[in-house]
Amino acid sequence: MARRKATDDGFEIGGQRVAPGEARVVELPVARLYTSTPVSLPVRVLRGREPGPTLFVSAALHGDEINGVEIIRRLLLQRALKRLRGTVLAVPVVNTLAFVHQSRYLPDRRDLNRSFPGSEKGSLAARLAHLFLREIVGRAQYGVDLHTGAIHRPNLPHIRGDLDNPETVRLAKAFGVPLVLNSPTTPGTLRQYTTAHGIPVLLYEAGEALRFDELAIRTGVRGLLNVMAALDMLPSAPRRERLPEPVIARASSWIRAPASGVLRAQVALGEEVHKGQVLGVVGDPIGSSEVPVLANAHGVVIGRAALPLTYEGEALFHLARFDAPETAAGVARNIRSARRVLKRGRRNQPRLV
Ligand SMILES: [Zn+2]
Repeated sequence: MARRKATDDGFEIGGQRVAPGEARVVELPVARLYTSTPVSLPVRVLRGREPGPTLFVSAALHGDEINGVEIIRRLLLQRALKRLRGTVLAVPVVNTLAFVHQSRYLPDRRDLNRSFPGSEKGSLAARLAHLFLREIVGRAQYGVDLHTGAIHRPNLPHIRGDLDNPETVRLAKAFGVPLVLNSPTTPGTLRQYTTAHGIPVLLYEAGEALRFDELAIRTGVRGLLNVMAALDMLPSAPRRERLPEPVIARASSWIRAPASGVLRAQVALGEEVHKGQVLGVVGDPIGSSEVPVLANAHGVVIGRAALPLTYEGEALFHLARFDAPETAAGVARNIRSARRVLKRGRRNQPRLV
């Protein structure tokens, strides 16, 4: 019997072959609910006709961080993808079980992003981590993982990455965020695994949990297209749609509440602050106490508490730290030009408000 000539290069995932030029949704089985309803990990596999690298794009590793879900949905609608070289593995909801509970955590209360590399026979979180590494990360040479701040804690759109890897730095700069933060990896995170295995992965942080943020979403979609252009998977964006090169911060720190009470914040995300500056005041409801919250360094606010009710010790303001004042001013400039650039891109999608 004559062997059928192979029509593709053998790319297979979840038992399905995806040939060059094909797009397919593959459902990877995860676990069952108590009801015995199967739960799966849906992956949209996009293969360009031309060869190129494989990039994974993932969101909702933390089930309540939903900006990335919308970023991936919009990415998949981009007409530019018709000219894709290489392969995109798009996983809009990694942590399905946490996502349906609108929670950061899995039903076993574990944090998926502290459970890598996981194992086949471990906890539910360990099994999901293992599946994600085996099926998605293991097939990719690059990745972008989309996150947001916690509930009531919005983040300024920024990239976190291991800036000792020159390829990560190149891609982080290409993404087009106002700021890139060098951040050491935490044990058990996806990024710790990819850093140890030399896989350049960008972590995009923008907005807060359980909310959509239009600027965060637009910056994310544009950023993914820019990264794919930098990897030669797509043609470059027109000049007028390019975002300014980010400012790099080597360190960051949280300013905590000096007392319990009601916070009256005085600085916004993206604002430059100086050491000793009053960032807000924590008072009591009848006005008999007032404790200032002071900046312990010069920097830019990249995360903050949006809920004014606080206990002492709670993290209130996250500062990216800079040595030179002009770098912090550069972040503010970048935010302004990002807003201008992203405003022009409104024709495709109605603005979410
Ligand atoms: Zn997260």
